[in-house]
Amino acid sequence: MAKRDYYEVLGVSKSASEDEIKKAYRKLAIKYHPDRNPDDPQAEEKFKEAAEAYDVLHDPQKRQQYDQFGFDAPGGGFGGGSPFGGGGFSMDDIFSMFGDVFGGRGGFGGFGGAGGHRQAPKYRGSDLRLKVRLSLQEVATGVTKKFKVRKDIACSHCHGTGAEGGSGTETCPNCHGSGMEIRTQQSIFGMMQTQTTCHVCGGEGTVIKNKCTHCHGDGVVKGEEVVEINIPAGVAEGMVVNVPGKGNAGKHNGVSGNIQVYIEEEENETFVRDGQNIIYNLLLDFPTAVLGGQVDIPTLDGNNVKIKIEPGTQPGKTLRLRGKGLPAVQGYGNGMGDLIVQISIYVPKELNRAERKAIEELRESENFRGDSSTKRSIFENFKKLFS
Ligand SMILES: [Zn+2]
Ligand SMILES: [Zn+2]
Repeated sequence: MAKRDYYEVLGVSKSASEDEIKKAYRKLAIKYHPDRNPDDPQAEEKFKEAAEAYDVLHDPQKRQQYDQFGFDAPGGGFGGGSPFGGGGFSMDDIFSMFGDVFGGRGGFGGFGGAGGHRQAPKYRGSDLRLKVRLSLQEVATGVTKKFKVRKDIACSHCHGTGAEGGSGTETCPNCHGSGMEIRTQQSIFGMMQTQTTCHVCGGEGTVIKNKCTHCHGDGVVKGEEVVEINIPAGVAEGMVVNVPGKGNAGKHNGVSGNIQVYIEEEENETFVRDGQNIIYNLLLDFPTAVLGGQVDIPTLDGNNVKIKIEPGTQPGKTLRLRGKGLPAVQGYGNGMGDLIVQISIYVPKELNRAERKAIEELRESENFRGDSSTKRSIFENFKKLFS
């Protein structure tokens, strides 16, 4: 079955705010909730479809990738599996998202699966965003960049625990260790009980007896770290490289967030990039175009290559140097692109007397005025540029 556009699924515009997306999903989730539509496989499908659309559109990074690449987005930060793989959702995932919208989970990931016993949850540090500007040569080879990053790091005084002098933790008096509390509220279905994260312990089920004097119990402090980031070859403007575990440290020795590196490209003075291909405009002198010869073509690795010019070469002709373009970024495209040489003919702006005389003589020759078959073939080349 063809997948429907995520915006269409939620019935929102491409410019919808996060809040509009949340509201639209909430409406659909209530309408198609399996409890309200027992034994209705169509409703279940709709429920899943809405959940998948919401999962992508409420996450700014996934949404940006979806906007740019559609369903063919590169793998989760060029390493993992496809972030929007169809059918990869379990009902558990969907209900956890559903809980999200209804004010369920706090800043945690890592609760045990439904039905299993509850694992101690872990705080997750937030993600950091960086921008990097790359030259075309850096794109061609890939590059390692160093960044000095200001971020949350584990508190060295309490070793990230948040507790002073090894005082440890005790069971949360509010939720008695469950990490959850029940709230009763009036809703459109009547009185509804919802389970939410305990507001005292933040879902951990434990509280710290004596808070660390350096980090006030968080287990993290502001700090600096030099981070080396490998940018794979072949990336392009607008892509995002995800570096897991290098973002803000999680509280209480939790899970570190990621660094997301946004790629920008410097303009190049010699080449124009077209996907994996690069285009070089060769300004060929008229005598060589007429008589044939050899010319040097620059390449991305800095070495020139010689190419042969056939006698009678026409402007607009393209030559292709296979494999001299850009590599495919991991999980997106394949092989090497080409270097495409686009030929223009140089016309001198000023002539000395002898040159003028020679050209005037050439003008008298019928052969220099262009026959219809040559005009035709130049037009065909010109059309190819736009196909
Ligand atoms: Zn501390
Ligand atoms: Zn609690």
